[in-house]
Amino acid sequence: MDFHCHLDLYDNPQEVIRQATEAGTYVLSVTTTPKAFPGTKRLSANSPRIRTALGLHPQLAADRYSELNLFDLMLSETQYVGEIGLDGSTEFKSSLPIQSKVFRHILESCDRSGGKVLSIHSRNAAGRVLQHLSEAAGSSTSILHWFSGSSQDTAIANDLGCWFSVGPAMIRAKSGRERVSQMPIEKVLLETDGPFAMQNGKPLVPAQSELCIPILAEIWGVSKTTTRQQLVDNLKAIGVLARGVGV
Ligand code: MN
Repeated sequence: MDFHCHLDLYDNPQEVIRQATEAGTYVLSVTTTPKAFPGTKRLSANSPRIRTALGLHPQLAADRYSELNLFDLMLSETQYVGEIGLDGSTEFKSSLPIQSKVFRHILESCDRSGGKVLSIHSRNAAGRVLQHLSEAAGSSTSILHWFSGSSQDTAIANDLGCWFSVGPAMIRAKSGRERVSQMPIEKVLLETDGPFAMQNGKPLVPAQSELCIPILAEIWGVSKTTTRQQLVDNLKAIGVLARGVGV
């Protein structure tokens, strides 16, 4: 599975979709602006294993604030929301106040609609993101994508019931593997963050999320088969949450 991939941003999305379909990979296709949602959803109209998420990336929040109305209008069309969140890195620090407004608005809209499955960016803003999540009504399921918060942040995220999507680029770093070792085994999903994240100088494609499996097996101290089965179970559990069963 690849639970955070920007299908619309590859040079050749149809070829990436064809390969993912051939490999049987389940994909969460995230978007960065509400305007991109309809076209991105159409890309995978004939791909039952691909779901499209409605998003407004924190790095674009300041420029695309006006698309929040469109976001609300389209929200009923999907159970998945992303990429959303906050980015506190040097380049985007100055827009944090508007990013916060956008993020809070989205969290509230999702709660009002009964809860969504969220793919959340938190680069250099883990504490702030977790603060927002703790203030939200809590009907949504949060998946922290490529989480790089401190060990304390990870503990807070666990207390809040957050999920995590981890990819080859994250797990390659020792710090990434340390984070993963703190995450509950039943709350971990795979991602690539392609085409932004690379492997050997090339954008990662969905099936390559599986590169994480041997490393996860080592961290978890179980076999690769058990690791794979755990991830399948986790994906099923997220699917159940997305359909709102039991809510
Ligand atoms: Mn991304």
